Amino acid sequence: MQNYFGFNSFRPLQRESIEAIINKKDLLTILPTGGGKSLCYQLPALYFEGQVTVVISPLIALINDQVINLGLNNIKADKLTSELNNEEISEVYRKLNNKELSLLYVSPERANMESFKALLRQVDVSFIVIDEAHCVSEWGHEFRPDYRKLHFLKEEFPHIPIAAFTATATCKVADDIVSALKLDNPTRLKGSFFRDNLILNVKKRVANGRKELVNFLKNYDDESGIIYTFTRKETEEIASFLQSRGFNALAYHAGLKSEIRKENQDKFIRDETKIIVATIAFGMGIDKSNVRFVVHMDLPKSMESYYQEIGRAGRDGLKSECLLLYAMGDVVKKSELMNSIEDEVYKNFAKNKIEELYNYANSRQCRHQAVTGYFEESLIECENLCDNCQKEAVEEIDITQEARMLLSTIYRSGQNFGSAHIVDVIKGSKNKKVIENGHDRLSVYGIGKEISKDSWGLVIDKLFEKKAVKRGDFRQLMLTSFGANVLKGKQNIYADVDIFEEVAKEISLDKEHEIKDENFEALREVRAELASQKGVPAYVVFSDATLKEIAKKLPCDEESFLDINGVGKVKLERYGEVFMNKVKELKQ
Ligand code: ADP
Repeated sequence: MQNYFGFNSFRPLQRESIEAIINKKDLLTILPTGGGKSLCYQLPALYFEGQVTVVISPLIALINDQVINLGLNNIKADKLTSELNNEEISEVYRKLNNKELSLLYVSPERANMESFKALLRQVDVSFIVIDEAHCVSEWGHEFRPDYRKLHFLKEEFPHIPIAAFTATATCKVADDIVSALKLDNPTRLKGSFFRDNLILNVKKRVANGRKELVNFLKNYDDESGIIYTFTRKETEEIASFLQSRGFNALAYHAGLKSEIRKENQDKFIRDETKIIVATIAFGMGIDKSNVRFVVHMDLPKSMESYYQEIGRAGRDGLKSECLLLYAMGDVVKKSELMNSIEDEVYKNFAKNKIEELYNYANSRQCRHQAVTGYFEESLIECENLCDNCQKEAVEEIDITQEARMLLSTIYRSGQNFGSAHIVDVIKGSKNKKVIENGHDRLSVYGIGKEISKDSWGLVIDKLFEKKAVKRGDFRQLMLTSFGANVLKGKQNIYADVDIFEEVAKEISLDKEHEIKDENFEALREVRAELASQKGVPAYVVFSDATLKEIAKKLPCDEESFLDINGVGKVKLERYGEVFMNKVKELKQ
């Protein structure tokens, strides 16, 4: 490591990854951007002398950079990509046959070709690396169909170990990578996602956000930073706006002529340009360590992208700052673009991802805790490394009742509808969809008409933030187990008074509309069913008073059922079992 790379010690999980590879085990390592994944396979590639390590990597630009950098460290590496002509390809084959290469980089398209399989049979391969392995998973954020076909590697070459690396994978994505690549009992390593040198700030954008941007940049005189925008046009507009204000900024996007793009990138890397205003096309594989800030002018498309993009700040470990400016309109704009995705489930999945980020932006939770929590890592709080932890504690109000109204509406309409419909039902709208579904007959219909649509929207945001609701595959709202507890009255929901000021006023107006007791409602349905079966009025089965007592005490054995006022032996025998079954269900 010292000879070739000049490093004195390992970073977290590098040693463990390298040991797994040297022991010929399959491996999945998840290390955040900047964590040092390349070393994990480049070092063992040197260890297996006389053999070649094959690296499958999704971007030609990344491949080119790596091959050049390795060459500079005297490590023999080459590539097979669509950019090469036949002569160049023959030269690579010649080097392989003469055992002159330690590493061979291959694009996924090439890896799926028959000629590549023939090559794997012919040369002595130490192990295969799948870089950016989240591209394997449809549940990741950069799905690549060519990556998903790579299971042939294990099927046809089971003796060659595979080492997969990614910076961003939830457990679901990690499991998917393991099964899609058919990894054989792999060593699984996961680094911490907490970047303790990043300060995370999030603000609602006012108009086009230029004012906030300039105010922010004033703190970073002569420092390097990246500003991400959504469209190519915006990169140019913001770059020239900044130039007119005396900032040293250039634009970067995939639509620029490649020479200009390269020139702008090089100027940034060499510190001749301090600020680069870019679309997300910028950044992959760029190893500039002194980026002091990253600004997002609108919401990134997912938490994974956000994490990757902010991860370009502070790679040298020094304090760096990230600012995310956002507005609700960003979600609408991006969701509309996603309408062109044909696969319904994938489309909704993509929409859910952007909405998750909106909820993150809107939330009062510690930002670092929210980000690491997204990757299933639990963090206490960040100690003043984010805007939310820096804020003074704010007064909270109890919105449990409103939350329960909403949860109850979601539950009673069968957990099959989106937010707009739920709000329509709760507000007692006569909308066609409400009537057609018979939702005007639900007990919750119109229970929240005094509260405005916008305020209900805020309550829904809060329920998302608190993870009381989630989206299903068709974007329908569904209760989580926490949401079910809130509905049953076992948990409360609080919100900050300043955000909920308006809601709070409306809530006080609406207090007389008490939410119906869920248990009582459920038991009432059982009673109605029994009554209609026996052809008797409902009160003959049990009076409301008896039913209320059952709802409160929830008796589930004969003795306690008999204790209820209005329950005698005869009624116990006739109806006891049915009601107690329901009670057991309610208690779960
Ligand atoms: P990743 O691919 O995980 O984003 P890289 O492999 O590009 O990260 O490494 C990020 C930076 O950290 C690079 O500049 C690399 O040279 C440096 N680096 C990697 N491992 C070490 C180490 N053990 N000690 C010091 N620097 C390291």
